[in-house]
Amino acid sequence: MLQTTKRPDSPVSIIGAGIAGAWQALLFAQAGHAVTLHERGDEAMTDATSHWAGGMLAPYCEAEIAEPIISRLGLRSLDLWRRELPDTPFNGSLVVAHPRERNDFERFARMTEHHRRLDAAGLAALEPSLEGRFRDALFFPAEGHVEPRRVLPKLHERIKAAGGTIKFCSDVTANELDGIVIDCRGLGARDEQPELRGVKGEMILIETDEVQLARPVRLIHPRWPLYVIPRENDLFMLGATSIEAEDTGVSVRSALELLGAAYTVHPAFGEARIVEFGSGLRPAFPDNLPRIGIRDRKISVNGLYRHGFLIAPALAELTLAYVERGQIDNEVMQCA
Ligand SMILES: Cc1cc2nc3c(=O)[nH]c(=O)nc-3n(C[C@H](O)[C@H](O)[C@H](O)COP(=O)(O)OP(=O)(O)OC[C@H]3O[C@@H](n4cnc5c(N)ncnc54)[C@H](O)[C@@H]3O)c2cc1C
Repeated sequence: MLQTTKRPDSPVSIIGAGIAGAWQALLFAQAGHAVTLHERGDEAMTDATSHWAGGMLAPYCEAEIAEPIISRLGLRSLDLWRRELPDTPFNGSLVVAHPRERNDFERFARMTEHHRRLDAAGLAALEPSLEGRFRDALFFPAEGHVEPRRVLPKLHERIKAAGGTIKFCSDVTANELDGIVIDCRGLGARDEQPELRGVKGEMILIETDEVQLARPVRLIHPRWPLYVIPRENDLFMLGATSIEAEDTGVSVRSALELLGAAYTVHPAFGEARIVEFGSGLRPAFPDNLPRIGIRDRKISVNGLYRHGFLIAPALAELTLAYVERGQIDNEVMQCA
């Protein structure tokens, strides 16, 4: 039987101001709850995995490797991004491959939906910088992307505007907090969820004004898959490796592969200035699926793995529906 747990007078504390916690705080504050968001780092958020992310909102491309639940949460999240931050770019995504990777490209096309095939002229019309670079491309028009380092502060501002409080440099545990507690600590929650692991993702930020892109471009490659995401001010993020390791930093091999693959997308990237090397650890459960864990008034939202920006809004909506109406989503929620 569903049980309503709403206590209108009860405060809601959220731990962790990464993308998971930020969306929880925003939707709960907007719904009229007395929200406090605790973050142990400072406003720069460099300790959060979210700081290092690409920020692609790509439910259709991700369907190549992800479970259907990711598409379901991702599609709902696109609506929420549009609703809460209407200036989010929804310019779509492009997928390209060199002739040698033809079979992998065709496989990607078969494994995914909601794309249009562009010939070389169509690709050049969409992205003039890529003229003559590829014979064809897959265009996923409904996908979007955000710039994590700009969107996190925006979400934090929205939380405050909705009446929430954010406490940076506030390292807390759920037990010391009253009311409903939503634990969004990512890998920091391993003290209570030891099955969490970090999956390392390395990225490189480069700068050039010789290439202009309006949307993320994915290069299919069996060993060096790459995406190039345009950022403001002539910056491009090159990403990302996926390595079962928890050390930080970027290896020479990964740097060579990411930079080499980018050079094959456009030779002008060879002249670009390297601005930053970085890496983050994606918080993942053994099945790589997200989980909302419920124990009394303690809720944990974790395991967002490589889809935090894609699915955090929908996870927040589900958590709110549980707290306000006792609604259970059997695919994502686990009740103790
Ligand atoms: C290179 C790379 C590229 C990626 N690209 C994409 C992409 O394109 N699209 C996408 O959807 N996802 C992407 N991801 C995945 C995405 O970044 C993660 O899924 C997401 O950041 C996880 O968010 P989170 O809020 O759960 O964790 P985090 O962002 O790590 O946030 C957890 C926060 O909790 C805080 N915290 C921990 N303990 C405490 C405590 N005791 N008290 C207070 N605060 C605490 C931490 O300081 C941290 O700020 C990428 C990841 C990487 C590494």
